[in-house]
Amino acid sequence: MAEVRFQQVSKTYPPRRGSDPVEVLQQLDLQIQDGEFLVLVGPSGCGKSTLLRLLAGLEQPSGGEIYVGNRPVSQLRPAQRDVAMVFQSYALYPHLTVAGNIGFGLRRSRNRSALQQLQDSLHLASRRLPRPLQVRSPREERIATRIAEVAETLELDHLLDRLPKELSGGQKQRVALGRAIARAPAVFLMDEPLSNLDAKLRTGTRTQIVELQRRLGTTTLYVTHDQVEAMTMGHRIAVLNAGRLQQLGTPMELYQWPANLFVAQFIGSPPMNLLPVQVLGAGQLQLGSRRLTVEGALAEGLAARTGQDLTGGLRAEHFRLAPATNRNLQAEVSHSEALGNEQLLTCRLEEGGHLVQVRVGPEEALPPGSTVHLDVDPRGWRLFDGAGEALPLPPATAGQGPLLPRL
Ligand code: ADP
Ligand code: MG
Repeated sequence: MAEVRFQQVSKTYPPRRGSDPVEVLQQLDLQIQDGEFLVLVGPSGCGKSTLLRLLAGLEQPSGGEIYVGNRPVSQLRPAQRDVAMVFQSYALYPHLTVAGNIGFGLRRSRNRSALQQLQDSLHLASRRLPRPLQVRSPREERIATRIAEVAETLELDHLLDRLPKELSGGQKQRVALGRAIARAPAVFLMDEPLSNLDAKLRTGTRTQIVELQRRLGTTTLYVTHDQVEAMTMGHRIAVLNAGRLQQLGTPMELYQWPANLFVAQFIGSPPMNLLPVQVLGAGQLQLGSRRLTVEGALAEGLAARTGQDLTGGLRAEHFRLAPATNRNLQAEVSHSEALGNEQLLTCRLEEGGHLVQVRVGPEEALPPGSTVHLDVDPRGWRLFDGAGEALPLPPATAGQGPLLPRL
């Protein structure tokens, strides 16, 4: 078990065929606690896989240092780092059976004397002979026991003699997981491990990975682009964009109090609705010709910003259908998506023609073209300045957030 620390880590890929060098990570600081499940998200190409590959030792950093526990690891070979990686593509050895794949890291892990090697080979060659003729090898027996344990955990016991090509996608991914857990590494690295699975299998395997991680307590860095995986699997989420860490926090912190517009639009489905507003005074915003009320942590601080233009953010659940009044917002439904338990309406506000997405109950019959009136939850407002940074919360409120997860 170990904590993992990226300290001022930079990575630039050298130029290729006349193109410019690719600066992927810029002086990144990131700390993953011992036993934590950290989910890493960000747009395609932002450097998620690079971050994992740097930790695994498949790439060298251009600057900074990575620590596993108290050990700087950037000078160590991958096998010495005590980390195990699971890839989207499974990356199983095609010529090895399931048992061979799970045991691969165990066989590779320590140097053996020539005598031991001979003993192990004779053991493997004589495995199928009658018992009295078999050559014993304590090492191989230990490995067999470990393979059996891992196979049982992942329900692979009946598949041990198969080759990867004889397995389904879900089974292959369980073998890849088995190979990672067999060595009981200090850190698991998982790079979109579920994205090749169909939806149902993905849900099942997601639960299995979370249960496994909580039971083993192994520090885990997990990359995904799936909103549900991001929100449900980890203790915390790290959002990466343009080479920099945008925010690090619990899923609810990021959902409720995104640190900037990028996170507001990236975390949550649908993304946060954004509207141009002007501050009228304490607890008062103006959207076009409408006055809207702000309550909660942000309300007081607004007096000092009177007259400023800000971006106001509202989640889809912060709008409610309401009877027409002169305080709420009239809108026309342009599209509706029935999701079974709820509907997601896309509406065009009469005020300014802005499009917003609104969550409503499944029973509302609101075909495109219908007129609706939307009440805004005064506590739902999130506000961002001209640089896209969230307005700071008053210190009293900021301290109350669930800052560190209980592991
Ligand atoms: P992600 O996993 O977030 O999609 P990657 O870490 O794979 O992103 O890639 C980050 C950026 O680095 C991309 O622009 C990609 O094209 C570039 N890149 C990745 N690997 C290499 C490489 N070996 N050589 C040059 N550029 C690379
Ligand atoms: Mg990637």
